[in-house]
Amino acid sequence: MIVAMQEKATEEQIDAVIDAMEEAGVDVHRTTGAMQTILAGVGPTAGLDLTKFEMLPGVLHVHRISAPYKLAGRAWRPEGTVVEFPNQATIGGQAIAMIAGPCAIENREQIFEIAACVKAAGGKFLRGGAFKPRTSPYSFQGLGIDGLKVMREAACAHGLATVSEVMEIAQIEPMLPYVDCFQVGARNMQNFNLLRELGQVRKPVLLKRGIAATVEELLLSSEYILSGGNYDVILCERGIRTYETATRNTMDIAAIPVLKKLSHLPVVGDPSHGTGRRDMVAPMAKAAVAAGADALLIEVHPNADKAVSDAAQTLYLEPFEKLVRELRVLAEAVGRTM
Ligand code: PEP
Ligand code: MN
Repeated sequence: MIVAMQEKATEEQIDAVIDAMEEAGVDVHRTTGAMQTILAGVGPTAGLDLTKFEMLPGVLHVHRISAPYKLAGRAWRPEGTVVEFPNQATIGGQAIAMIAGPCAIENREQIFEIAACVKAAGGKFLRGGAFKPRTSPYSFQGLGIDGLKVMREAACAHGLATVSEVMEIAQIEPMLPYVDCFQVGARNMQNFNLLRELGQVRKPVLLKRGIAATVEELLLSSEYILSGGNYDVILCERGIRTYETATRNTMDIAAIPVLKKLSHLPVVGDPSHGTGRRDMVAPMAKAAVAAGADALLIEVHPNADKAVSDAAQTLYLEPFEKLVRELRVLAEAVGRTM
């Protein structure tokens, strides 16, 4: 259930409503927007008489949430979520964020060179995989924590925030000092135990859509994190598997406006995994911005053809810089900044 408070509701009135909701056996999640406070009640609300809550002082209106996801739905935060990071970086809101870096952190020199490029292009986020979910067990599996240490150093040197994939619960704690945002990869979108644990963490989570997941399944996966009290979730469209083989995945551009409509969570477009092809990254990055994406995730490498993973979809540094310049113009055309 959603309880929207009046603009002028006092803290005492809000507390009284929270108490009444908790007494009725529901978990209360509060959001305080610029205009009003909205309380989401999650739990056994089916048998509740909502008029009882409507009568409480300071309440504007009460309604049931018909969608299966409760906290991810836009009704709870109509203004949209802006996720905040160190160094004044944000994802959500007016500005479009650039998250870029190699598929995998390979060595110190590589990640420092990329960090300098991302910074020079105006990006605020450095991404790099240290725990890699590879299709083959014989492929490079990532440098682990040693890789994250050098990525953190490179990010610090350039005032960037870091994003890296977590594959299992046991990695969360050791990763904490080195990452500003946990990425959950497509293959783990329905690793519900991992999602629940990330709900207990107070660091943002970038949740990628699974290769065969519907939009609703993605939103329900985000609900596992949100219901734990971690409200800083960013959704990512990274392509799904279809009958089409011309591209590695089929980037579902329409999912971006769909997610923006259904949910308050920021949405990232990932044209690198979405296409698997270097020559298709720029057009699909532009399409994602035109479709309303709040950020882009792009794989870059100074020696892209020699990248140890995802080489075919990785941009060289110069085309990446050119793409960012073009995206700035496009962002302005759709009323955003970059
Ligand atoms: C990645 O970001 O490098 C990655 C492995 O992504 P995905 O989970 O979308 O395949
Ligand atoms: Mn990759």
